[in-house]
Amino acid sequence: MAAIPAKTLLNEVRFVDLGAQYRAIATEVDQAMAAVLRDTDFILGRAVNQLEEEFAAFCESSYAVGVDSGTSALELSLRAFDIGAGDEVITVANSFIASALAVSHAGARPVLVDCNPEDYTMDVSRLEQAITPRTRAIIPVHLYGQPADMDPILEIAKKNNLVVIEDACQAHGATYNGKRAGSLGHAAAFSFYPGKNLGAYGDGGMVVTQDPQIAKALQKLRNYGQEQKYKHVSKGYNRRLDTLQAAVLSVKLRHLDSWNSSRRQLARLYNESLKATGVITPGVASHAESAWHLYVIRTKNRASLQAHLASQGVMTGIHYPIPIHLQPAYSDLGYKKGDFPVTEAYAEEVLSLPMYAELPADAVQHVADTIREFNS
Ligand SMILES: *Cc1c(COP(=O)(O)O)cnc(C)c1O
Repeated sequence: MAAIPAKTLLNEVRFVDLGAQYRAIATEVDQAMAAVLRDTDFILGRAVNQLEEEFAAFCESSYAVGVDSGTSALELSLRAFDIGAGDEVITVANSFIASALAVSHAGARPVLVDCNPEDYTMDVSRLEQAITPRTRAIIPVHLYGQPADMDPILEIAKKNNLVVIEDACQAHGATYNGKRAGSLGHAAAFSFYPGKNLGAYGDGGMVVTQDPQIAKALQKLRNYGQEQKYKHVSKGYNRRLDTLQAAVLSVKLRHLDSWNSSRRQLARLYNESLKATGVITPGVASHAESAWHLYVIRTKNRASLQAHLASQGVMTGIHYPIPIHLQPAYSDLGYKKGDFPVTEAYAEEVLSLPMYAELPADAVQHVADTIREFNS
């Protein structure tokens, strides 16, 4: 393949730069993809199996089942636990909408709780009051790469006989009290959407679990409910992870710890450089080591700060501008403005700064200087 020219405008700071990542690993990736093309085992090929073993080990867990997206990983996990019509599943208002969509797609009803003001993950003090006789599961979200407070969540789940499925779609490699995201709940869902910490060249996802029965159920669910060829024991789906994507992900997985440690260093640099600039830097709980999928600040002047940063070539994002309970798609749940005050306040204030492993330190400095200059 021809060399790809590095496109950088003077002072331009991209939000993510997947090209920079590819340039660093192009030879390995090209070889891995060529091997799949030669072997032609495109569906549930060898590379899928290999990635499943590697990713389960990476998560310090037992089994992993590759699927076609993070949303599918969540939905099929619920289905594997036989959760569906008539059931309620508790998740957070402060997340990407897929956390709730997966519940709806499984046929169950999402019940939302607010986030805590410190680290923006599930407010555990609100959890018990959301439980009803119909509740079957809890989906805590490791938002922005930071694990939710899993110990009290697991304790409440145990007391109420509920399943806990981690939404770890933003948290590949994060830890909670030293334990990897993905090893904490009864199952965990990961996304390989291109911009995630571990990203495919297209869609992909994975369920991780310690439970061999659940892993078996997922293997059938993703593959037409097939137990052996042309014997179908359930009305399953076509939700497999492509062999080609698995081959790419295996290559990238070898780099993930180093990419995550680079993100951690950049986050530290942001924290230092943003001191006394008037913006609120991310809160990190003592139990958490974030995977820093996103670096999210808060400011009362978001629109003008975002415009100023853009004028200086700095791209930013908002995660998320509309909380799940205020989305038109979920008007049927009957929530209203005011139901989740922390989530609603933060939806007006959060601003995600550029964050990816290859982001140069002087770009972080430029972003921080631009923010300081705007606020002074
Ligand atoms: C990305 C994401 C998902 C969905 O993953 P897809 O692979 O895009 O389906 C679910 N939950 C959260 C928190 C996410 O960030």
